[in-house]
Amino acid sequence: MITNHKPITHFIKQSAISLVSRIRDHRYSANQLIVITSLYVAFVCNFPFLTRAITAITQTSDYSFLFLLSVPTLLVSLIIIINGTIGVGKLLKPLLILTILLSTVLLYATASYGVVFDYTMIQNGAETDSAEAFSYVNAHDIVFVILVGGIPALGIFFAKVKTQSWSRGLKARSALVASHTILVVLIASVFYANYAAVGRNNRELLAYITPYKFIDATVKYTKRHYFTTKLPFKTLDNNPLLEIEDDKARVTILVVGETARAQNFSLNGYSHNTNQYTEDSGIVSFTEVSSCGTATAVSLPCMFSRLDRETYDNRTANAQQNLLDIAKAAGTDVLWIDNNNGSCKGVCARVNSIDIDTGIANPLCDGEYCFDEALLLPLQNKLNNLSVKNTLIVLHMIGSHGPTYYKRYPQDKAVFLPDCQRSDIQHCSEQEIVNTYDNTIAYTDFVLNKIIGRLEKLESDSAVKTAMLYISDHGESLGEKGVYLHGLPYAFAPQEQTHVPMLFWQNKSLVHQDSDCLRSVSNDVISHDNLFDIVLGITSVSSNQYIEGRDVLSKCRASDGLLASATEPNTKILL
Ligand SMILES: [Zn+2]
Repeated sequence: MITNHKPITHFIKQSAISLVSRIRDHRYSANQLIVITSLYVAFVCNFPFLTRAITAITQTSDYSFLFLLSVPTLLVSLIIIINGTIGVGKLLKPLLILTILLSTVLLYATASYGVVFDYTMIQNGAETDSAEAFSYVNAHDIVFVILVGGIPALGIFFAKVKTQSWSRGLKARSALVASHTILVVLIASVFYANYAAVGRNNRELLAYITPYKFIDATVKYTKRHYFTTKLPFKTLDNNPLLEIEDDKARVTILVVGETARAQNFSLNGYSHNTNQYTEDSGIVSFTEVSSCGTATAVSLPCMFSRLDRETYDNRTANAQQNLLDIAKAAGTDVLWIDNNNGSCKGVCARVNSIDIDTGIANPLCDGEYCFDEALLLPLQNKLNNLSVKNTLIVLHMIGSHGPTYYKRYPQDKAVFLPDCQRSDIQHCSEQEIVNTYDNTIAYTDFVLNKIIGRLEKLESDSAVKTAMLYISDHGESLGEKGVYLHGLPYAFAPQEQTHVPMLFWQNKSLVHQDSDCLRSVSNDVISHDNLFDIVLGITSVSSNQYIEGRDVLSKCRASDGLLASATEPNTKILL
């Protein structure tokens, strides 16, 4: 049987053409454009918010259908009020186009990576270099933004708007805004208790409201960073001292990891052998360490600050001595070597620092990034030229920085295969993502072992007492519950983003004596708040800022700064 499809396809084609021309030729009132755009932003761009809000409400036992229905209604009304109030005269089309484009970009990031745009995320974005920002851009992003944002934006651009007299336009707009304001007030008064209850138990929900949470956070960040006067600098300790009683020089290396999460370290029991290089070095892994933040912009300065996670504030932290300042004031030679976009987030502002040059003259670099092995050369230069008795060197790694995990290790160091060789990681299989991430951890382990090798050599050549502490700034989500990367607000961040590794190594002979004592404290529950005291303890800096109870290693340290003997640990406990 021969079927003639022509009339059907012809009909569809004609209908489509007539629909497009009707939309094109239709003259919209300004109010219609506002309502259509607001509906689109509410139901398409805020899809992640609405689904989460509905889930949160339906999980409560006594929700009413009307309350559930009020959520999208409230959202649409609020967006109409915002657009209706700001979008006056010639501002209307640019405002609506910008709202749709911005919301689409944010929607893509939230739907693909599970990220939200709160204050910390804005801070992280603003303090990120352009190479890092561009590593997130790929063909999928562009196609998505064109389809979901670009086409509606073009529609608004070409839409014909009815001309109205000034007074009639004002009247119509006032009626639109007023009617929706009344609706908002009505919903708020009827369902106030319900909203308060859902909000209390699901504080994170507001962070998903697009694009307004982003705008709110951006305004707050701008105000804070560009329109706030600097606080006067505060010296916390006028007279820190070195307490080294023997005549041997000390070198402490503090390695700050990037985006490494504790659960992927085989030293902590992980199934992939990610610590094959250091496992026999006598290194001790502290298994219960939590980070201060979920992003570098907060975690890094917080780690070095005397402020606690609970009270931490960037502005205050920047205006007072940090751990490095106090070590330096005590006479320690402090050097910061950076392989993380040359950004120590202000921590190294008052000490010597070296940024690794990412130029392609270095075979370990590709013009944008360098593998962490690039830290070893300036480190060795420093070790060859120790100038004072006590030296603290901070190595700031690029570590496991995503989403381009595959760029963090040379291919010959790829242990776990197949890996994911692209930046839009959500399109790789779960196993490929984990393999790629684990390769970054294994490579970090390789570099740590190289550092240990250099310190061992220093010890055997010059009898210098050496120690290395490694700690990551925050963890990473690898697709668990649909969440990727990091930076979620701390209050609802998953453990993958806040549970960080901390490894301690020191002179072989000493570690062997004291490994029992060290291991006995290695499961203590600690956090970045303890780092300040742990490092002051390791570097033998005596300061009025030191809180011995927070220095988990102090229990294993004798009064002369050496670690206590394992045979008599109890007699050496300093409490
Ligand atoms: Zn980081």
